Amino acid sequence: MKILWTPWRGEYVLGEKASGCLLCIKKQEPVEKDRENYILYRGATCYILLNLFPYTSGHLMIAPYRHEASIERLDGRSLYEMVAFTQASVATLKRALSPEGFNIGMNLGKIAGAGIADHLHMHVVPRWQGDVNFMSILAETRLIPEALDATYDRLLPILAEEISRRSDGETGKGN
Ligand SMILES: [Zn+2]
Repeated sequence: MKILWTPWRGEYVLGEKASGCLLCIKKQEPVEKDRENYILYRGATCYILLNLFPYTSGHLMIAPYRHEASIERLDGRSLYEMVAFTQASVATLKRALSPEGFNIGMNLGKIAGAGIADHLHMHVVPRWQGDVNFMSILAETRLIPEALDATYDRLLPILAEEISRRSDGETGKGN
């Protein structure tokens, strides 16, 4: 077994397009292309996007805008927002897809399974009974775009609501 606990494999099998950091390229693209890029939300320091090679349906990622490989060097604001967005993502996925559990975490370094090792990012993977059997058939196969589009449309409004609800709370505390 190559990867100890992380279930996701083959994230962003880049092939020919491997020039530059995909997470940096996507964040720099115009907001009008967010749907095409499956970017669900842009925060102050981090953004949320769907994984193009999802382990399960609803597999999303939270990346800081800052191109940083090392979690020790990531600034406090980005760290905070990454975790806050993880919380909002879990709440969103529960409402939208009713998963029975989650895998949440980061692959730091290629040896640990990171597909984009130079730019750290948090995975949020909803889990259902039996999904491993199902996904082993689809392993490392890109989901058809229609499936990603449907997931995107379903998550988008709920995620905005969950994040706004939480930031309203912060504002109330004088933040
Ligand atoms: Zn980057």
